[in-house]
Amino acid sequence: MAKDYYTVLGIPKNASQEEIKKAYRELAMKFHPDRNKDKGAEEKFKEINEAYAVLSNDEKRKQYDTYGPDQFNQRYTEQDIFKDFNFKDIFRSMGFDFNMDFNENPDDIFDTLFGFSNQTKRHGAGSDKLISITIDLRQATQTITQKINITHNVKCDACKGNGIEPGSRVITCNVCKGRGQVNNVQRTPFGIIQTITTCPNCRGAGKIYESLCKKCKGTGKIKKSDIIDVKIPKGVEDGMRLRLKGEGEYGNRSTGDLYLDIHVQKDREFIRNGDDILYNLKIPFYIAILGGAVNAKTLYGTEQINIHPGMQDNEKIILKNRGMPHFNTNNYGNEIVNISIDIPKQINEEERNLIEKFQNMNKNNNDSDYKDSDQKKKKFGIF
Ligand SMILES: [Zn+2]
Ligand SMILES: [Zn+2]
Repeated sequence: MAKDYYTVLGIPKNASQEEIKKAYRELAMKFHPDRNKDKGAEEKFKEINEAYAVLSNDEKRKQYDTYGPDQFNQRYTEQDIFKDFNFKDIFRSMGFDFNMDFNENPDDIFDTLFGFSNQTKRHGAGSDKLISITIDLRQATQTITQKINITHNVKCDACKGNGIEPGSRVITCNVCKGRGQVNNVQRTPFGIIQTITTCPNCRGAGKIYESLCKKCKGTGKIKKSDIIDVKIPKGVEDGMRLRLKGEGEYGNRSTGDLYLDIHVQKDREFIRNGDDILYNLKIPFYIAILGGAVNAKTLYGTEQINIHPGMQDNEKIILKNRGMPHFNTNNYGNEIVNISIDIPKQINEEERNLIEKFQNMNKNNNDSDYKDSDQKKKKFGIF
């Protein structure tokens, strides 16, 4: 379940932009990781920003209200959510002063928290994973659940991710002998230079745990193959990207997301045009002339349709609600049946006689029309 942005900011669904801004400001002040070192503050801060990025933008808010938390989350990537959302400007405009971090590296905290760029991922934020799934058009007419196999890094269950063997004793660091600092001695042409730096082994603590977690060899994470159920909402379109929060790679502090690129294969009979389906139906020429009932295929079975007498080539018949579902809703597009009149390539003697008889009956009516138009075409060079 995705968190509800209104709940995150503690505001009613009909909150005004002023109320949203006020709620965000108060919460952001409270949970900014520079001020709040509580466990979970960082995650909370991230949530607040995500909620504000969406609700402060009328267009995104409208989408969010339409789809609801879960679908919105699945439909939009973090990049989408934070598009056009400039933290620095927003923070400045609100008069926030987190100068130390911001002056040094203004984007750092956000890069760290949100892990926008895989190259600059630091401080153990997990990376995202991308896989693609191919389904056919018929599968896209229904919400389906597919099992997918992924191998990703997850938090080591033996040490809960801290890399220390459970029950391990704390001992004095053997590199710095408990001082937390080490001397580096460098011989240079100018003499001996001695520098004191933080002990790399204990990171200055002077004490270390005696043994690393055996299961993860101290890394805090293990590779795991998982079969996960992926729900693909009906009406999904080719090229859509769905997000499964927290199914990416574990990175000692947070887990990245899993993105699914959905490919919907083209169908041989049905052409998708948004929510509508185009279908070409050949009917015998005599049905076109006389009218009658014929069967038309739809994505949901066969349907009988009535051909009126005198049906023309390329006339369209609309089958209401026989198209694709609109993404993740119960609204359907239409199937548009394009009538194409089938002219036999070969006829037998008896058929020829009948057609000729028909021709003779109509000789005086239409012949001149056809000739005229033929000549016109020739004149204008149209063939
Ligand atoms: Zn040490
Ligand atoms: Zn471990």
